[in-house]
Amino acid sequence: MPKGYIKDAPGENGKAVDIPKEFLIESKRLFERNKFNQWASDKISLHRILPDARPKLCKDKVYPGDLPPTSVVIVFHNEAWSTLLRTIHSVLDRTAPDLLIEIILVDDKSVVKELHAPLDAYIAKLAKVKIIRNKKREGLIRSRLNGKSFAASKAPVVTFLDAHCEANTGWLEPLLERIYNDRSTVVCPEIDVISDENFAYQYGPSGLMRGIFNWDLHFRWRAVSTEEQKRRQSPIDPVRTPTMAGGLFAINRDYFKEIGTYDEEMDIWGGENLEISFRIWQCGGTLEIVPCSHVGHVFRKSQPYGFPKGVVDTLGKNSQRVAEVWMDGYKEFFYQRQPHLRGHAYGDISKRLEIRKKLKCKSFKWYLENIYTDAVLPNESVIAKGKVRNPASNMCLDSLSRPKLSYIGLSPCTLSAMTMIISFTVRQELVVQDICLDVSDYNPGTKVQLYECHGMKGNQLWMHEKDGPIRHGTSGMCLDRGSGGNPIIAVCDGGESQKWIFEKYYLNVTPKVKI
Ligand code: UDP
Ligand code: MN
Repeated sequence: MPKGYIKDAPGENGKAVDIPKEFLIESKRLFERNKFNQWASDKISLHRILPDARPKLCKDKVYPGDLPPTSVVIVFHNEAWSTLLRTIHSVLDRTAPDLLIEIILVDDKSVVKELHAPLDAYIAKLAKVKIIRNKKREGLIRSRLNGKSFAASKAPVVTFLDAHCEANTGWLEPLLERIYNDRSTVVCPEIDVISDENFAYQYGPSGLMRGIFNWDLHFRWRAVSTEEQKRRQSPIDPVRTPTMAGGLFAINRDYFKEIGTYDEEMDIWGGENLEISFRIWQCGGTLEIVPCSHVGHVFRKSQPYGFPKGVVDTLGKNSQRVAEVWMDGYKEFFYQRQPHLRGHAYGDISKRLEIRKKLKCKSFKWYLENIYTDAVLPNESVIAKGKVRNPASNMCLDSLSRPKLSYIGLSPCTLSAMTMIISFTVRQELVVQDICLDVSDYNPGTKVQLYECHGMKGNQLWMHEKDGPIRHGTSGMCLDRGSGGNPIIAVCDGGESQKWIFEKYYLNVTPKVKI
């Protein structure tokens, strides 16, 4: 037990922190500052114990005695004291000393006072912790590179963590082992969720999720493909992942350099995780999530910090650089989703293209055919698109910004919202903002769900022709507006409640995009 351990202290053993009513206002104020509940975090010991999130099989694993040690780089901009310090202590408390050379903190021009002199004083007592401070705000990409350049030469591996993490028991060895076996393997831990509301440490079974991306070039989590599940022989075998979330990974330092570290022209936040993911795969490396390594991360719903040049420009430019350098003709899909970025300046990419050429990296087509094999290609040529109206009621389908695994709803067609724009694709899916209309129970009266598009037809296959009903493929039932505000499937009867008209129908359904 760590020094000062108090059983049942707030958040201990990964439990949620209760917020008494009288502190709700204060905790809301602190939430705004960090976009997580700092009040809760401040109550938790910097050395709190976590439940061991690893699958049982991991606990018996024996690792080579000569694993390469690592420098851990943690970049931050105005991070809360308690989350930053708990990240540091979790690493110090739960890493074998001979595997941890140092922790390098990179302050990306924080203005919060306690992150200056008080932080210097605090870490002066921690032998392995160093800090470097950027002269100006650089963003996380150049900050990480800055940290890496200070790493001691005796550390063959660099490990990056966000500033609001908690490393769990045995987190490092499984990562290092993969790099030890093959230096071109880049590894991510299973990232457990530390609740932004109450700092509960939440984890589920390991080895089930991988990273993907959508054509907006946003990172997304998805279930591991059946193909990959077949390839893996044990539930604790690493998962090959098409993309990484970005904040938490370990990489051989020389290999990182060889493949071109990061794109230094990317500012503040975003895009770099897809860029390095595409680059690793296309240039001959391997990217994995290792089920035996668990690290918690506070996932936020929005960012607490500003983008000096504006979010749209910054993120737009970062994403364009990913698309322009790595995605070949497929970049068109990105621009179709973000037409405002056509012609938007993205700087000079010649150095990045040189890397691609020098390393003889493969095409994006190869990546889609071999790594992200179940990617759903958007077809510009949707059969029909727009608001989907039931004429008798003048109500339109509306996902109402509901999270996935919820039901499609209805709104008056007089309203307009992105959540009402539905595409009937040539793949015969009904897609609203990347999410598919799905029916998994074929009994009449079943509400129509919103579910991640899986591209495998089945429950997400629909049939529709202009002036006709929308018929569900597998059940043969028809989409009916229902009576409780949620459309359902019902036996097709040609009635008024089963008539649906898309705002626009397209006659030409052959794909226009050439790749
Ligand atoms: N960060 C930084 N400079 C910036 C933006 C972010 O140093 O301009 C740091 C931030 O403090 C965090 C890491 O980069 O430690 C990742 O950012 P964040 O946690 O906001 O990203 P998310 O996890 O939400 O994707
Ligand atoms: Mn983060």
